[in-house]
Amino acid sequence: MRIKSQYCKRVPVEKGTTILYEKPFAYVVRLAVRDERCDHCLRSGKLSKCSGCQYVYYCDRNCQKESWLIHKTECTNLKKISPRVVPDAARLMARIIIKLNQGGADEVSYYSKTNFRKFKDLMSHYSDIKKDTKRMEHFTSLCGVLLEFLGETLMPNTAELIGIYGRICINSFNILDLNMNSIGVGIYLGASMIDHSCKPNAVVVFEGTTIIVRTLVDLPFLDWSQMKISYVDLLNSNKDRREELHNLYYFWCNCEKCKQADSIAEAATCPNSSCASPCLIEDDKCEKCSVKLSEDFKKSFREVTDFTTHHLEKMKTMAYLDVSKICLKKQNGILHSLNMQYVRTLDTAFIAAVNLEYWEDAELYSKELVSGYLLYYGEMHPLTGLLYLIMGKIKLHLRKLKQALEVLKKASAVLMITHGDKHTVVREELRPLLYQAIMEATNSNDCNDIA
Ligand SMILES: [Zn+2]
Ligand SMILES: [Zn+2]
Ligand SMILES: [Zn+2]
Ligand SMILES: [Zn+2]
Repeated sequence: MRIKSQYCKRVPVEKGTTILYEKPFAYVVRLAVRDERCDHCLRSGKLSKCSGCQYVYYCDRNCQKESWLIHKTECTNLKKISPRVVPDAARLMARIIIKLNQGGADEVSYYSKTNFRKFKDLMSHYSDIKKDTKRMEHFTSLCGVLLEFLGETLMPNTAELIGIYGRICINSFNILDLNMNSIGVGIYLGASMIDHSCKPNAVVVFEGTTIIVRTLVDLPFLDWSQMKISYVDLLNSNKDRREELHNLYYFWCNCEKCKQADSIAEAATCPNSSCASPCLIEDDKCEKCSVKLSEDFKKSFREVTDFTTHHLEKMKTMAYLDVSKICLKKQNGILHSLNMQYVRTLDTAFIAAVNLEYWEDAELYSKELVSGYLLYYGEMHPLTGLLYLIMGKIKLHLRKLKQALEVLKKASAVLMITHGDKHTVVREELRPLLYQAIMEATNSNDCNDIA
């Protein structure tokens, strides 16, 4: 009894505390990066092919050995269906089936000293999935792939399969690399218990395949039922976020943020350039300066919006600077500077400029991007911290040492909360840059205020 009361003690939890550190129950590397990432630890670098299937890659024998328990069933089957590839969802589902066959149903994952979850504890939304035509079509095609891939003996019955499929749909996490790009997809038994909010009090980051959940605000004590992370990209309008959440997770978000009006996400900029207030395209005039929103202006707004949607969709996997520039030029004077499409286009322009090492361009876009990030993601968000970090890198390239140091301090204030001092991003990216900025600023006349 004494031990129990000790566990129940309500200790305050500061922001930037790791409240969960968990290995996946099952995961797969994304098909798109299959030949760039180790199938076991997801690291990039020098890799060797599995000689059995010639399909997956490993860092070394160690990774191969550790993966063998789950890969040995896969290995022969991957070889059998070669040269065809297996979609991510099918491969994850196959791995779960293999794992459950090996006794995985009894695996427990503790999220506190006394509470744990098993695979069966994950929500499957069984009846929602069965009613969802789009998902059932996907499920049917997956079953076809699975049957061919795994063979009949390993296949569970249809009800069990829908249960597994539903658990994947509702509970899987994108495994992100240090730059927050998706490199894998995984099931985490403990972390999947955390509910969604568009204004979350916790955040998920990854170190390899390990999920790390960290608090973003000070809490009087840790109450798991009150912990919230965001399931969707926050650079979106309330309407789109709510629809996405409803389509993917079958609930209608009623969080603080969703209940507030967000007219700015789809706003035009007032045609009166000295006003530049956000205007709703359905309105007849600017609310602030009363300038009329002409039919021509409305027509241009719709054209630019469609044009941007089309090109952003095309640039989903690869950002192009020239295309982004054309979009930005068309948006100028029509979309408001905090319109989500404008912010997204700036984002692709920024990424493309960084990739091309066009530092002046990158600096310009990053400057404008900050207010968009602060509005949509908020200050305490991994992406905001990483934006500051890259800005620091850019300013170092441009020899703006004082500014580099300033922005890297901002990066540090965010990343120490979202990632923590033990995370690779802080140890291997932030710290060396901060050190470089301090050293170079101290040694140059550019900066005189460094102690
Ligand atoms: Zn590895
Ligand atoms: Zn193999
Ligand atoms: Zn919401
Ligand atoms: Zn106006």
